[in-house]
Amino acid sequence: MKERPGNIFTFHDEMLLKEDKEKMIKQRAIAIWITGLSGSGKTTIAKILERKLYEKGHLTQLLDGDNVRDGLNNNLGFTAEDRAENIRRIAEVNKLFVQCGVITINCFVSPTTEIRESARRIIGPEHFVEVFVDTPLEICESRDVKGLYKKARNGEIKNFTGIDAPFERPKNPTVIIKTADQTPEESTDQLFDHIYPKIKYA
Ligand code: ADP
Repeated sequence: MKERPGNIFTFHDEMLLKEDKEKMIKQRAIAIWITGLSGSGKTTIAKILERKLYEKGHLTQLLDGDNVRDGLNNNLGFTAEDRAENIRRIAEVNKLFVQCGVITINCFVSPTTEIRESARRIIGPEHFVEVFVDTPLEICESRDVKGLYKKARNGEIKNFTGIDAPFERPKNPTVIIKTADQTPEESTDQLFDHIYPKIKYA
């Protein structure tokens, strides 16, 4: 046990490792980071994926704007500073889950390379799987699942990604999903096939 300033003690030497937990629940933990425009299909795919993994006996945690912004991050707004802090906390939560052997599935627009790279850095690049749901803006806008594009076009919402705020396409994502000509099940199967070898306990 090492002593640190401010009477903070660290027990890292005695802590169980990620590998110990993974052995117990028989899976390899990764953080699946799904990025894409609003309405691209992140949440739809994540939910089907989570159920599919559950049916195969895998333990997961889905993280999205709803369960993070309402709780842990309910004191954060949408300034540049708050957006950075939002992602920092989300990434730190991911790190804890992954350390515990749990597979995380993240659904955040995360529109810039900087945001995604900061998440990758915090979680650890070896555990980070970047998934780009590449759905054209016109299709996302025609779906307008939450009516947000309409509001953004009317000027009721400012800085809306794709309308008056940029989305930087990921340069080298592990998986690219093109939902335009696929059913949600087909898109999810494509993702599942990529990630399953990474989580399978051998
Ligand atoms: P996001 O989480 O990215 O904001 P949602 O998952 O909430 O997007 O909404 C995506 C919408 O697109 C849903 O209404 C879904 O049924 C529809 N959709 C059509 N085809 C697909 C597909 N191949 N994958 C995912 N969603 C699709």
